[in-house]
Amino acid sequence: MKILTVGGGGREHAAVEALYRSGAEIYAVMKNANPGIIRRAKAYKLVNETFVNDICEFAIEKDVHYAFIGPEAPLEIGLVDALEQIGVKCAAPTKSAARIETSKAFMRELVSKYNINGNIRYAVFNNAEDTEKYLKMQTDEVVVKPVGLTGGKGVKVQGEHIKGHDETMAYVLEVLRTPGMGSVVIEEKLIGEEFTQMVFVDGKRISPMPLVQDHKRAYEGDIGPNTGGMGSYSDANHLLPFVTEEIRNKALAILKSIVEAMNTEGCPYRGPMYGQFMLTKTGPKIIEINARFGDPEAMNVLPILDSDFLAIVKEMATGKLKEETKFKNLATVCKYVVPRGYGVAPEPGNEIHIDEEGIRKSGAEIFYANVDMIDGKLFTGTSRSIGIVGIGGTIAEAEKKCEDALTFVKGDAICVRHDIGRPELIQKRIDHIKNLRS
Ligand code: AMP
Repeated sequence: MKILTVGGGGREHAAVEALYRSGAEIYAVMKNANPGIIRRAKAYKLVNETFVNDICEFAIEKDVHYAFIGPEAPLEIGLVDALEQIGVKCAAPTKSAARIETSKAFMRELVSKYNINGNIRYAVFNNAEDTEKYLKMQTDEVVVKPVGLTGGKGVKVQGEHIKGHDETMAYVLEVLRTPGMGSVVIEEKLIGEEFTQMVFVDGKRISPMPLVQDHKRAYEGDIGPNTGGMGSYSDANHLLPFVTEEIRNKALAILKSIVEAMNTEGCPYRGPMYGQFMLTKTGPKIIEINARFGDPEAMNVLPILDSDFLAIVKEMATGKLKEETKFKNLATVCKYVVPRGYGVAPEPGNEIHIDEEGIRKSGAEIFYANVDMIDGKLFTGTSRSIGIVGIGGTIAEAEKKCEDALTFVKGDAICVRHDIGRPELIQKRIDHIKNLRS
């Protein structure tokens, strides 16, 4: 079966590999020449992922009738609506349904309106005076977020990225004055450990994927600016060392209620849905809901998917999802190789050298992300370059394979958070939750 894929990052490369394994004929659209996607594609087009007309033309020209869309930007501008109009069924949400991610205000208001568990104290403002009044009333620390998409980088946490009232107001003003942003969300600051629960959704039903923990901070020890995610791990039992089955079921119930609420609201949701939760003293709370796979999280779950991904994509797009999706009982550790300065001022355009054979022999997989292949040479862009995923019986084994594989990636201007998936960091998470909940 032919399938259109949109996106040229690590998440999309992982999706393309899974589709290729299920025998799909891939027609890819991406803005960068991702060599991992290109070698699996029957045909591809290099174009900005938000150029709806070009993408529709490519779908018509290649006579493709199903689509998988990786990134959020095309969802926000209604690529799904446009594709469906020309008869392409999408395993991704319409513009209206994608608001669950593209408007943090929509998400919080929906969760409040339907009394769904896991909501937190929040307020949305479009002017500085009201924001300041509200901030002065707060006794605890808060988090400041632009209401729209920021690629995970626009969130500032008081006490970490911004200190005190003046710095907080300075950031509020920056957000309010940024063209296209306009509104700001002030949220209560949650204390706990983050985890990701992703599910496949067909408009009504959900089918869970293994839990994953991402690492948003740029530097080892969970410090530094927020990034799109530096790496992630998952466990062989599909839970996390600090998340029990009971907690996971609560997170799943929240996602199910959101899917039901969206149906009632007349904007049924189709496609992968990503729930980011903070496990707090009082249970899992919603940090954000995304209208797509997480990146890096897709690189953890898709390589261990035992069900047929092409069938799942088709089922999501046509409202016929089966309840159970099978994943191998294996642990994974993903570490992103990023350009030096990533998170603050990335330095693009540097060459990197990859020994794919060495990576594979280490028991790991490579997913190309924001890189360009030019005249047979690989160059970094401004975003994350390459995801290396170790796969093993335990997290420790997967982490070792990932590190072994990383020795086959060479470049002068690249960085990696080596602490991801290491026993010390995982123990820190377990102890943190034990202390919080005791
Ligand atoms: P987001 O883009 O909403 O996923 O936020 C990026 C990161 O900011 C999250 O992964 C958290 O580490 C942090 N964050 C976001 N919202 C909150 C919150 N309400 N409390 C504490 N940390 C948060």
